[in-house]
Amino acid sequence: MPRKSRRLLVAGNWKMNGSLVASRELVDALKGERLGAAAAMLVCPAYPYLQTVKQWLTGTGIGVGAQDLSDRNGSGAFTGEVAGAMLADLGCSHVIVGHSERRALYGETDELVATKFRNAQAVGLTPILCVGETLEQRETGRTDEVVRRQVTAVLDRAGVAAFANALVAYEPVWAIGTGRTATPAQAQEVHASIRAIIAARDATIAANLTILYGGSVKGANARDLFAMQDIDGGLVGGASLVATEFLEIYRAAAN
Ligand code: PEP
Repeated sequence: MPRKSRRLLVAGNWKMNGSLVASRELVDALKGERLGAAAAMLVCPAYPYLQTVKQWLTGTGIGVGAQDLSDRNGSGAFTGEVAGAMLADLGCSHVIVGHSERRALYGETDELVATKFRNAQAVGLTPILCVGETLEQRETGRTDEVVRRQVTAVLDRAGVAAFANALVAYEPVWAIGTGRTATPAQAQEVHASIRAIIAARDATIAANLTILYGGSVKGANARDLFAMQDIDGGLVGGASLVATEFLEIYRAAAN
């Protein structure tokens, strides 16, 4: 199968896990990897570790991203919030927006996610827009409708040109942290439809858009997922906390 023209990305979402010591061990294990031209690597630690992890990774080519950002711009009286500009200041390149845990546990709406997406881009961060259906939505045949709504909400507010500097991650909620991965065919079907939604507004931007799959990606299933035409890498949760597993996933993308 010919290699995709798009460069793949393997991103680790560490979520609210780890410690300084555990982060150091993980970074030390990842640092030894020679990154190939075909795939990039990104890690997304929790806020307190971003700057330190970024420093540890200096010169390695491994990028650092954040897991979220504020819906507020600039600075001000927003206790507990972290502005996109602060993340950019630390050297983050990417930021996850609209992760299903943010949507489900913290009530983030499509509108709020679109605001965060735009705030990220306003300060030069590349947003990774997460979309995906719940099990109930899949079982009642609403996957396409839900994903279309989530993508369109951002498209309408940010414009299609914004997707030239963004990634989308398809993360079926039922596959996140459950050990139950979407089959390559199931994931490919949704990825193709996400690309088609964007292509209806701009075919070139759609063709170049990196669409990650997330949901129980492991070393054992990564190669089959990444072989699909519209799957351009992975957003990896649990397996990104285990260096050997994460590196196996990375190598599946890079080789
Ligand atoms: C995630 O949290 O984005 C994720 C995909 O988690 P996991 O890989 O553990 O399913």
